[in-house]
Amino acid sequence: MSNSSSGIAIGFELTRHCNLHCTHCLRNDTATAEEIGLPLFKRILDEAKAYGHPWILLTGGEPTLHSEFFSVLDAIGERGYPCQLVTNGTTFTKMAARLRSHQDCLRTVTFSIDGAVEATHDAIRGRGTFRKAIFALALARHFGFRTALQFVANKTNWHEIDLLPKLAQELGAGILHVCHAQPSTGLYRAGQQLSPQEWREIEGTVKRLAETTDYVPPSMSVGRYAPGDIAPCQTLRHRVLNIDYRGRLTFCCQFSNAGCGSDDIVGDLNKLSLSHAHRRLLKVIEQVVAERVAGFSDGTFGELDGYHCWHCQKRFGKLEWMRNYQNDPWVKGEHGLANQSTIK
Ligand code: SF4
Ligand code: SF4
Repeated sequence: MSNSSSGIAIGFELTRHCNLHCTHCLRNDTATAEEIGLPLFKRILDEAKAYGHPWILLTGGEPTLHSEFFSVLDAIGERGYPCQLVTNGTTFTKMAARLRSHQDCLRTVTFSIDGAVEATHDAIRGRGTFRKAIFALALARHFGFRTALQFVANKTNWHEIDLLPKLAQELGAGILHVCHAQPSTGLYRAGQQLSPQEWREIEGTVKRLAETTDYVPPSMSVGRYAPGDIAPCQTLRHRVLNIDYRGRLTFCCQFSNAGCGSDDIVGDLNKLSLSHAHRRLLKVIEQVVAERVAGFSDGTFGELDGYHCWHCQKRFGKLEWMRNYQNDPWVKGEHGLANQSTIK
């Protein structure tokens, strides 16, 4: 989630707005241009001085669509924090010259590329988006940005994972992340959700490539099968805070503007200090980790709960919409969603 080498990372979902409509998108509404205001953003950055030099992660929606995006970068730079931008690459080229002047703080730019070939990527993200993304990545590299390529695997593209290390090398991306597409309504409507077995196959492929490729080695992002791992991610290891487009501290960036309910909202920073909301988060994390210890040791967790993000989303009630898919392998069976209630 972050490549900060020390301290804490703070992820900001700067805006819910996005200019694409990717099949797998987790977000419930990307058409609305709702964003975190600059005064609140600056106040949170000031309060974050308590953490030394936190790594700031800018996501969305498409974060570059924030109406004051360059003021956001100015605010981060003025405080001396390093930051990382996660973008779909469609706006980067026209912004590149200005972004260049923020290279002191903008340390890494991560581009989402969901196909090793144009037709696959464009089928998921929209016509013309592959060319825009790879041109943007090449330009970012040319300008001296550290770049990363992020690939979200679904039924359309997962057979292209073998081609990614070479593609990343050719584009000059130094980092290659492969992520599972977490369940979303768009993914299910399109029949693109992969089964638990297929997730395991992807993890095997990524492991093999990481050990054997002569190009950029891939790494698997959060969500992989890791039964018994009680704190498998930066959130549960107390290394990252996630703030949504309304200025609320949320349990995980994957839950924001996604799925059902709002049990994942920890505190509203319009009303609470960062320190106060963070202390609330610590209590929720403690509870979640305790449940994981109990579930794995007393056998109440099943095979599916070994996919930790799946378990977490179920635990916070984000996946209630999936109960409509009774024959889905994530839903049916003894430990499927259909046979479990949300843990409270
Ligand atoms: S996955 Fe990202 S780029 Fe695609 S629609 Fe959602 S927010 Fe936009
Ligand atoms: S969903 Fe849960 S396990 Fe997955 S990254 Fe978020 S906090 Fe961690």
